[in-house]
Amino acid sequence: MPSSGDRKLAHVALLPSAGMGHLTPFLRLAASLTLQNVQVTFIIPHPTVSLSESQALSQLFASFPQIKHQQFHLLPLDNPSDDPFFEHFQLIKNSSRLLSPLLSALNPPLSVFITDMSLASTVTPITEAISLPNYVLFTSSAKMLTFFLCYPTLADSKAMDELDEMDVIKIRGLELMPKSWIPPPLLKKGNNILKTSFIEDSRKVAESSGILVNTFESFEQESLRKLNDCQLLLERLPSVVAIGPLPPCDFEKSQLQLTWLDDQPAGSVVYVSFGSRTALSRDQVRELGEGLVRSGSRFIWVVKDKKVDREDNEGLEGVIGDELMERMKEKGLVVRNWVNQEDVLSHPAVGGFFSHCGWNSVMEAAWHGVKILAWPQHGDQKVNADIVERIGLGTWVKSWGWGEEMIVNRAEIAEKIGEIMGNESLRIQALGIKEEARKTVGVGGCSNKGLSELINMWGKF
Ligand code: UDP
Ligand code: UDP
Ligand code: UDP
Repeated sequence: MPSSGDRKLAHVALLPSAGMGHLTPFLRLAASLTLQNVQVTFIIPHPTVSLSESQALSQLFASFPQIKHQQFHLLPLDNPSDDPFFEHFQLIKNSSRLLSPLLSALNPPLSVFITDMSLASTVTPITEAISLPNYVLFTSSAKMLTFFLCYPTLADSKAMDELDEMDVIKIRGLELMPKSWIPPPLLKKGNNILKTSFIEDSRKVAESSGILVNTFESFEQESLRKLNDCQLLLERLPSVVAIGPLPPCDFEKSQLQLTWLDDQPAGSVVYVSFGSRTALSRDQVRELGEGLVRSGSRFIWVVKDKKVDREDNEGLEGVIGDELMERMKEKGLVVRNWVNQEDVLSHPAVGGFFSHCGWNSVMEAAWHGVKILAWPQHGDQKVNADIVERIGLGTWVKSWGWGEEMIVNRAEIAEKIGEIMGNESLRIQALGIKEEARKTVGVGGCSNKGLSELINMWGKF
């Protein structure tokens, strides 16, 4: 809360990138800032890729009518990509010239602009031209941020090509990590869109006014220390402020009642979900279903076999098969499309999370003290899974590789689910992490202070 009446209110505009993984932390930040008397204008790239994004935005504006919003109409793209979310990053980049008049027209004038890291190279020239401080919200882990900032150096070094999969990358300041943890497109020779964007965005993030990360001190102490002690091989780095876990908001909750969960014993259900944009192959879906039945555990499983939710239109029986579907009903609830993860993770019946380790999912599991069985599928998820394992929030079966690399069979899945659900010490550790997560965003906590100090500073701009 602002301490004095004479300070002018900060006016902050937020611009998220595509997909729920990038949108959700922006929605939560918008809510947090509004509750601390910051005037927020939300810039919405339009149209969104998924239905869940447009629904989540509507829910935010219905709950917080004081948040202004501006549609940023995207121009069509000449070269469609095979990943609709990635294509959206490009659409936003291509439409960037429309952003400058939009920002300049906002009234009162903006104090700062906060954008997703994947838009840094697009937005920085615009904010520089109008002398507007530009902050970045990094929607992944602090450890991924160290990698992101070191990547231009890494991509330049010949040594990268000569390393084997399990060889460890050594760059001053970067924590050691095997080559196999790096998002595969970033390892390919020659140029590809992710590589080019990563390099361009990384350089611009390093030039921004500040970096906000959805993480917290006790969860990622080592990486945060490295970032703020200037131990990375970079000439300059803006301050990195941990502001997480950005607390889930009431407006996100769905009307749908998970009555099935209400009938299950406390801590007995494993929640199985691999995020908003990961589709499993049909063969893997079947093995996973058989594995869940064989594990003997109760489960709630969100089945997804298309990247974008609006294309997920085939019925469950079609994807899973009638016979397996019938057997699964004995112990589990199988859901097609979207369930509100917040509703599930906050439910007392849920005692474990079989997760791809998208960073929001990791922060949400920490927030609710739910232990994780990690199965990284792509992108930053191996780096995140390592954090989960080291901090004691869960376990990671490294031999399963990336999701698409192999079909993990039913016996292994059943065994690992049994292990995680029976692991009592992990349950206790997860509860300890939950306490830390709540403390850090509470009054006097590190993340709370970090955000409040920024807000105070923005009020003086
Ligand atoms: N989510 C959800 N229901 C689903 C799938 C995902 O509410 O069925 C939410 C989840 O709680 C998280 C976000 O969508 O906030 C997904 O972000 P994450 O970083 O975990 O993974 P991504 O979807 O980007 O791979
Ligand atoms: N749209 C889309 N993806 C979304 C949301 C909307 O492609 O996630 C398209 C939708 O198909 C329609 C247009 O955008 O053609 C307007 O959508 P909406 O109903 O959200 O209206 P508005 O946001 O303009 O009020
Ligand atoms: N990313 C980025 N710039 C881009 C595209 C992606 O910085 O232009 C980041 C992205 O946010 C993530 C990482 O690169 O941290 C891996 O991207 P991927 O698409 O695999 O995963 P995402 O996190 O978007 O689900």
